[in-house]
Amino acid sequence: MDSKTIRQKFLDFFREKQHQIVDSAPLVVKNDPTLMFTNAGMNQFKDFFLGTKTAENRRVADTQKCLRVSGKHNDLEEVGHDTYHHTMFEMLGNWSFGDYFKKEAIAWAWELLTEVFELPKDRLYVTVFEGDKGDSLEPDQEAFDIWKKYINEDRIIYASKEDNFWEMGETGPCGPCSEIHIDLRDANEIAKTPGKGLVNQDDPQVVEIWNLVFIQFNRMANKSLQNLPDKHVDTGMGFERLAMAIQGKKSNYDTDVFQPMIQYLAKVAGTQYGKEEKIDIALRVIADHIRAISFAITDGQLPGNNGAGYVIRRILRRAVRYGYSYLGFNEPFLHTLVPMLSEQFAEVFPELKQQQAHVSNIIIQEEKSFLRTLANGLKLLDEVVAKTKEKQQKEIAGIDVFTLSDRYGFPSDLTNLVASENGLGIDEAGFKEELKKQKLRSQQDAQKSTGDWIVLNSGESEFIGYDETSSFTKVLRYREIE
Ligand code: ATP
Ligand code: MG
Ligand code: MG
Ligand code: MG
Repeated sequence: MDSKTIRQKFLDFFREKQHQIVDSAPLVVKNDPTLMFTNAGMNQFKDFFLGTKTAENRRVADTQKCLRVSGKHNDLEEVGHDTYHHTMFEMLGNWSFGDYFKKEAIAWAWELLTEVFELPKDRLYVTVFEGDKGDSLEPDQEAFDIWKKYINEDRIIYASKEDNFWEMGETGPCGPCSEIHIDLRDANEIAKTPGKGLVNQDDPQVVEIWNLVFIQFNRMANKSLQNLPDKHVDTGMGFERLAMAIQGKKSNYDTDVFQPMIQYLAKVAGTQYGKEEKIDIALRVIADHIRAISFAITDGQLPGNNGAGYVIRRILRRAVRYGYSYLGFNEPFLHTLVPMLSEQFAEVFPELKQQQAHVSNIIIQEEKSFLRTLANGLKLLDEVVAKTKEKQQKEIAGIDVFTLSDRYGFPSDLTNLVASENGLGIDEAGFKEELKKQKLRSQQDAQKSTGDWIVLNSGESEFIGYDETSSFTKVLRYREIE
């Protein structure tokens, strides 16, 4: 089943269950000082849960463009390295605003996955909230008993507050969750751990696909919980992960959502996907990032020097650097992916196609200017190399590696690559020391993040660099401009 059909079937299924199908909210959040980008399907319905607005239709479903690169939900570090976290992804969701509750939400999720999409029942696991002493909450027996009707008890796993209790923020609507996971491991792998359920949730082949949130409490300012008069359902399912499961793949990137772009990039670079891990990571990073960049620009967020604009600029530069370092792309290339994307999303998110020329133009300008910066960084690197050799040292000093990464956006692995071409190494320990110092500086100033909403202090935020724990691992951090 191709991904277009999968999306359509999801929407049709809930339409038949009397849900109104609504448009995705824009990826870029304006007029909400607490949130930069939409990071979940429920964002646009926040007011219904808070009770400050009443929903016209009490049953709604959609596919929502989400971006998880800041605040509580920052998956950037994972992207490209694992096979199921993206920066931008589609979250399929169905909602009940004071209408149906656990019984229907669970029954329909099960029906959709096992009957419409025919996912094998013996590969699915569900989690239910195990309760919490601090909040005097009992385990979610209600959800357990409903699940029992559909799935063997040894496939229902009690899980902790951390993953199975959702809160909108410090105060406000909250409640237990039930997650659906799929085990994609080979049969012989599974045979090694029989009957152990979600024995290893961290196994990259055991993947969470759907989260059903049952909003039934209100967290008060004094931290106590009150029962809500109206109970709500909020669900979110990763579209790309669902496609992976249905298409029998082991990676989101092996589905038809990403393969055309990856194959195209590999061809242009004169390489193949699946040959070498570093190259594969670069291909995945680029195929992922171009989506975030294109949809952010489409929805009104241009790359810029601060705030949300800088997040987008950094994602774009990250993609350019991976292309430059591992695929030999030293001319602008990202923008050539825009037409493919706009075709792919022509029906579901036509806004990209409508703005295709604009989006391509912005990207190509950014690419050109960053490639110049890269060129300047390389010049500086040449000088550093000469200086190092002059001093008859074998390694480029940590502070130089840091300056290159901090000021020119030069990843340390690129510096290392150039160094080794010159018979040198880099002082990893010294570099890490510099990063630690910077991390301390940025931690002191870092923005507060609460719940699903990022609390930005007043004033603009400025990007201050990457947090580098390994050559590939980079996290965006912000500090307020004094
Ligand atoms: P995970 O534990 O895998 O990070 P999550 O618990 O943070 O996921 P939720 O906030 O419950 O995710 O979001 C609902 C669904 O959205 C998840 O079940 C998953 O299918 C999907 N999802 C979440 N984050 C991502 C991401 N970065 N890329 C792709 N899909 C995602
Ligand atoms: Mg997550
Ligand atoms: Mg999770
Ligand atoms: Mg979850």
